[in-house]
Amino acid sequence: MTTISATLAIVQRRIAEAALQAHRPVSEIGLIAVSKRHSPARIREAYACGQRLFGESYAQEGLEKIQALADLALEWHFIGPIQSNKTRLIAENFDWVHSVDRLKIAQRLSDARAENVVRPPLQVCLQVNLSGEESKQGVSVETVSELARAVSRLPGLKLRGLMCIPEPTQDFALQRSRFAALKDCLQNLQAEGLAVDTLSMGMSDDLEAAILEGATLVRIGTAIFGERQ
Ligand SMILES: *Cc1c(COP(=O)(O)O)cnc(C)c1O
Repeated sequence: MTTISATLAIVQRRIAEAALQAHRPVSEIGLIAVSKRHSPARIREAYACGQRLFGESYAQEGLEKIQALADLALEWHFIGPIQSNKTRLIAENFDWVHSVDRLKIAQRLSDARAENVVRPPLQVCLQVNLSGEESKQGVSVETVSELARAVSRLPGLKLRGLMCIPEPTQDFALQRSRFAALKDCLQNLQAEGLAVDTLSMGMSDDLEAAILEGATLVRIGTAIFGERQ
């Protein structure tokens, strides 16, 4: 059986090679191990190999793992669709949220987080729906700037950047053009004076293209943990 130590090493090497090709320091690229539908025991295994950032897509499932693994110093990223009745759970338990696409949800997250005086603001990326994405999730390219300005003013949140989930394709040039479009969006926000620095993009099958286009956080599940149940 393939161990997590082996698969993690392969992913780290892919990241290092892509960074080299992009003439970027590898230290600029964070690796989020997407552990949805994998057990706390598998997460412990990854932790033992030095992995610290983990991503979950379902609020309740994520909460159970956060509680089961409270003895470890992990950074938890929420990357799934956000239902409004789960905003408190997410705001109280996660460090980052990548999938904010509506002001209403952002306000609820901010309100819940701001009640906690100990925790720093929730780190937030806005999910952008680039043209061609099948998912209904995500703010449009046309309205991302408006949402970003509003979110940047919320006290319980710290706006960090943008996230996307392009539809899967084996076409490397197409992968790159999608990620380049997200980078354009981020640069537009920076030109407007927003202090954003994060591009959350790249999964198991397209992390190289994402890193070539400037990804600062890649979200990798299958290539580390294997197929999900
Ligand atoms: C599941 C998921 C991933 C990981 O996908 P893999 O193809 O398994 O690497 C990354 N990002 C999001 C938003 C996901 O839901």
